[in-house]
Amino acid sequence: MDPTASAETTRATASAVPALIVEDIHKSFGPVEVLKGVSLTANDGDVISIIGSSGSGKSTLLRCINLLESPDRGRIHLGGEELALKQKPGVGLVAADHRQITRMRAQIGFVFQNFNLWSHLTILENVIEAPIHVAKVGKAEATARAEALLAKAGIADKRHNYPSQLSGGQQQRAAIVRALAMEPRVMLFDEPTSALDPELVDEVLGVMRGLADEGRTMLVVTHEMRFAREVSSEVVFLHEGRVHEKGPPSTVFQAPSSERCRQFLASYL
Ligand code: ADP
Ligand code: MG
Repeated sequence: MDPTASAETTRATASAVPALIVEDIHKSFGPVEVLKGVSLTANDGDVISIIGSSGSGKSTLLRCINLLESPDRGRIHLGGEELALKQKPGVGLVAADHRQITRMRAQIGFVFQNFNLWSHLTILENVIEAPIHVAKVGKAEATARAEALLAKAGIADKRHNYPSQLSGGQQQRAAIVRALAMEPRVMLFDEPTSALDPELVDEVLGVMRGLADEGRTMLVVTHEMRFAREVSSEVVFLHEGRVHEKGPPSTVFQAPSSERCRQFLASYL
């Protein structure tokens, strides 16, 4: 069976309210407009791969979604709830409601290129930190859930180690588990395998495939074209700050409509 076809049909399970709607995001750094009105919608269970050249604004887009970066314009809805934003002069749009952004950030899991685990905490402590302090889950329950997730990611035996004692692939799997422990509505991945030695890439992609199979909603910035082709329900090609092309992987990879996208994909052959 064509694996692309199965990823595309999974989308039929989407609920009426999209998990995430990003509308008309603009962002400039000084005189350079890096995002020129980017919109995308993720329904429940969607895996959207975001591809594009270095500097095309992929990280900035992900960072705008949970306000790690302040967009200049745009709207963000998570699970049908619009994020309240206000203009802060010289900065851009910032959260208008501190409690709302805290709650909404808890529903957005973010996995960074460089893992970003807390180095002074063990793996288990990293994973239970937010559930205990943000979601107010009891320690015993948070620990039980963390251990189950760590086991699923194949790193249960590392739970009492510190991040520096793990390989990059193990650290990234731990970072994924840490994000999952908050039971987020959407997971955002920013080049999760780009900092890894080649032999460690597959163990991380394997965990991500598992999440996709479970029906998790994911936005994945990636240069792993095989993953994007096989796992995504949709592929978005960002170019010069705009969504230049998007569609099911079968279309984007096999018959891209724009010359730019064709050239970009050709550089991976
Ligand atoms: P990508 O992730 O697609 O490689 P980025 O979103 O990181 O691209 O960056 C897009 C553009 O914005 C690049 O030209 C980058 O140099 C610029 N940029 C990103 N972050 C900042 C920042 N904090 N200050 C100034 N320029 C930035
Ligand atoms: Mg980037």
